[in-house]
Order: sequence, then structure tokens, then C-alpha cells
Amino acid sequence: LFITFEGGDGAGKTTQATLLEQWVTARGRAVVRTREPGGTEVGVRIRDIVLHHRGHIDPRAEALLYAADRAHHIATYVRPAVARGDVVIQDRYLDSSVAYQGAGRVLDADDVRALSLWATDGLLPDLTVLLDLDPAAARRRLDADEKPFDRLEAEKEEFHARVRAGFLALADAEPERFLVLDAEAAPDDLAARVREAVAHRLD
Ligand code: C5P
Ligand code: MG
Repeated sequence: LFITFEGGDGAGKTTQATLLEQWVTARGRAVVRTREPGGTEVGVRIRDIVLHHRGHIDPRAEALLYAADRAHHIATYVRPAVARGDVVIQDRYLDSSVAYQGAGRVLDADDVRALSLWATDGLLPDLTVLLDLDPAAARRRLDADEKPFDRLEAEKEEFHARVRAGFLALADAEPERFLVLDAEAAPDDLAARVREAVAHRLD
């Protein structure tokens, strides 16, 4: 089973992935918890390049770097885990590329999706949880926490608005794969909704 969490920075993906990981583990299933970019040793280096040089990389080059990270991560780590029957819980996947490099950097969404599907030999998640959050609310959240590296600061407000709209358009196009949640809800309530969606996929 392959489950991904998507949404803008500060939406609470990491919190929800952790809560789901605890719940699935308690049900006796092996869990592989991972993320993109940076889910492998090679990926950590690619992550360092894309984040360190953010805003100064040609958009197509940026899309290719994310795709390279993804190709390696899926081939060497995620596919084998799914094949073993483990539950893979992943922070960000191809929808992030369509939203950030597509809608955000204004590359063609179908091109970005096709690139990602080529990179992963067509692997789609069984379930994608989209934590939808207004960028202004996300900013208030990130300002309130102690993280030294302001992830939202790197891009303009319009960029984050395009990314959000990009995610919602993806969810509209594939309603069976997506669970869209209002990320302003209480974490425990969100976790309950996620568990409900996962429970009937866990056999
Ligand atoms: O989710 P995480 O904090 O690991 O993401 C790192 C940064 O990379 C975030 O600020 C996110 O906006 C950005 N990102 C991106 N394009 C992607 C994936 C992540 O711009 N495809
Ligand atoms: Mg996170």
C-alpha cells in the first residue's frame, strides 16, 4: 500500500504522516516512512542542490532534478517496500511536482506529470491525502514555530496561491485517489479522517 501526503509548506503533512505511521504500526503492519525530495542518500544531495539554489535554477532543470530524485527513490526504496507488502507513508510525491514546478513555475502540468510517470515507471499512490491550507494561514503557522529556515519566505505569495490551486485541480481530476482535508481542522480530527480512508485499504 502506497500512501502520500501532499499540500503546501506548513499544512501539517509531517504531523499527519507521523500519526498515521503510529496507527498503522500499532495494527501490526510494517511501515516504511519516507519523503521527497531527499528520501535516499543520492536524494539528499539532490535536495541540497534544489533547495540551496531555489529561484536560480531554470524551471525545466528544477523539474528534472526533482524527477531524478524521484526515479532513484522509487526504484531503490519505495517499489521494493510496496512489493514486500509494507505500507509506505510518504511526504510529497509527483503531485508536488505538478503543483510546484507545473502550477508554481508555470511549466505545462501534463509535461511535468508525464516526466514523473516516466521517472517512476508509472507508479501512482493508492491514496493521496491533500492537506489544503490557505497560504496566509500557513505563513502564520510557520511564523509561530521555531524553524530557523523559513520555507515560505523563498517564494512570493502568488506562487503559493498557484501551488494551492494546482493541488486542488489534481484532486478534482482524480477524486478516487485523493482525500482532500481542510488543514485548519484539529490534528486529531484530521488523523481520524485519514485513518478512516486508510482502514478499508488495509485489507
Ligand atoms: O516538504 P519539504 O519541506 O521537504 O519540501 C522542501 C521544499 O521544497 C519545500 O519548501 C517545498 O515547497 C519545495 N518543493 C518544491 N517542489 C517539489 C517538492 C518540494 O518546490 N516538487
Ligand atoms: Mg513537512
